[in-house]
This record gives sequence, structure tokens and C-alpha cells, in this order.
Amino acid sequence: CDGLLEAIDVHRIFTSHHGRDTVTALDGVSISICAGQRRALIGSSGSGKSTLLSLLLAAERPTRGTVRFQGEVIEPRKASRMRPFRRAVQFIPQDCAASLDPRMTIEELVTDPLRRLGIPGDHRHAALQALENVHLPSSLLGRKRAEISGGQAQRVAIARAVAIGPKILLADEPVSGLDLPLRDQVLSLLRELSLEQHLGVLLVTHDLDAARALCHDAVVLDRGQVADRGDIRDMMSDPQHPATSRLVHSMPRIPSELMEARLAHHADRTREGK
Ligand code: ADP
Repeated sequence: CDGLLEAIDVHRIFTSHHGRDTVTALDGVSISICAGQRRALIGSSGSGKSTLLSLLLAAERPTRGTVRFQGEVIEPRKASRMRPFRRAVQFIPQDCAASLDPRMTIEELVTDPLRRLGIPGDHRHAALQALENVHLPSSLLGRKRAEISGGQAQRVAIARAVAIGPKILLADEPVSGLDLPLRDQVLSLLRELSLEQHLGVLLVTHDLDAARALCHDAVVLDRGQVADRGDIRDMMSDPQHPATSRLVHSMPRIPSELMEARLAHHADRTREGK
């Protein structure tokens, strides 16, 4: 793995306004994401997942340690040197469909980030290509967000990220709150995009079934530290670490054969544009 994006021994300590209380959100975490790799970041609430994500997005600095993109240290303030990074690393937020402005057309929504990042070329063509990549018809370009379905909006949100031509997608609970068919559709689409475009995906989730369906391996965070890492299927069938075991036993599970069959079904339907 070439470690396209990596956090190396990062610490993040939050200090209260008065400087009296501190919270150690991350305590010496190392993680990397490579092209084509699908890795899950799992952990219970408060384990440090969001904090790590904001460091990987260069939204804030680690208290100690470094975040590197293609070997170069990423600093939130070095804006001029950040353009390749801003293009290559795209974020898919939780509830991404809801974050789309309902008054904008699909074309505006997909091309807006291209304009803001100063990406040259034919933006309409890039938008059409991105819609095709997420199996949406080109006829949606002129529609407003308010005029399309929730499932289509979810795919528009992914098209928006894909149009930029990223190398890595950081997805924060992209399927939580979705009904099961839509959740499976989004997972199968992310898997397909990763395979076809050699995209690295870091899936931040507490949904172990989603993690297993999409990812090769997982990193388990527990109280700001990496408690466990490895093949996600092995981890789930025979958890070795207490933190992994707690996660595995704390949620209702879908048998893996059933999950595979559902994803295959939705891969076919997505390709057919349904
Ligand atoms: P997760 O995403 O896994 O739920 P977080 O990264 O949000 O975990 O939080 C990790 C720890 O850091 C928690 O104890 C949380 O309360 C604390 N924390 C997160 N952000 C802040 C902040 N801005 N100020 C103080 N403490 C914070």
C-alpha cells in the first residue's frame, strides 16, 4: 500500500476555555488509506472517529503527530499548496442528500465544487460523466433537488464528489438513517466506484454490516486509540479484542450471505438506473 493519505501517530487534545479541563480525543493513532482500498473506521460513540476524520480532511491540526498526503505534510493553513489535496480527498457527509440546496439544479449542484476549486475544462461534460458514473440519467441535469427522489439525491451527492476526480472518499456514516434498500444501493455504488476508479474509501461507521459489505479491512478505535485492526470478516466472526467484541455483540446482525445477495441485487438495479 502506497499510503496516499496517512495520519502518523496523531494526538488531539481538547482544552476547555479556562484551560483547566482537557479531553484526549486521539492518543497516538496511525492510519493510512491507499488507492483502491476500502477500509472501515469503526468504534463506539466518543471513540474519536469524527476527530480523526477532521484531521484527515485537514479541517484542523493534530496536537501532535502529522497528516500526510502523498508523503507531504498537510497543514490546514498552507492553502496554496493544498489544491491537489483538496481535489484528491473528498468528503461524503452524513445525511449528504439533505445537505444539497433544494433550489439549485442538479447541474449547478455538481458543477459548483468544480468552479470553487478552479478546476479547468467543460464542467457540464464532467457533470454528465459523474451522473453516468452513479447511474443517473442525464435528463436530471436541469431538475432541482426538490424535484428528485431521496434515493436520487443521495446519488447526486456522491456524483458531486466523484465529478472532482478524487483519489480518496472519506465517508462519514453515509448510510445511517437510510432505509434498507437505499442503504444497500449506496453501499453497492461506493463499492463499484472504488473498483472502477481505483478509489480509496474510508468508511466511518458504527454499522458493522455496512463495513463488512463494503470494506476489506477495519480499524477499531477505542477511547482515542487503535484497539484492533485487520480483516473485517475475521474480526467479526472471531473478535479477539474486547473493544471489537463489544461492537460485534452490541448490534443485531444480518447474515453475511444475505447481505451479499442484497448488494448483488442492488448492483443490478443501480446499473439499470432504478
Ligand atoms: P466519535 O466520532 O467516535 O463519536 P469524537 O471524535 O466526536 O468521537 O469524540 C472523541 C472525544 O473527544 C469525545 O470524548 C468527545 O467528547 C471529545 N470531543 C470531540 N470534539 C470536542 C471538542 N470540540 N471539544 C471538546 N471535546 C471534544
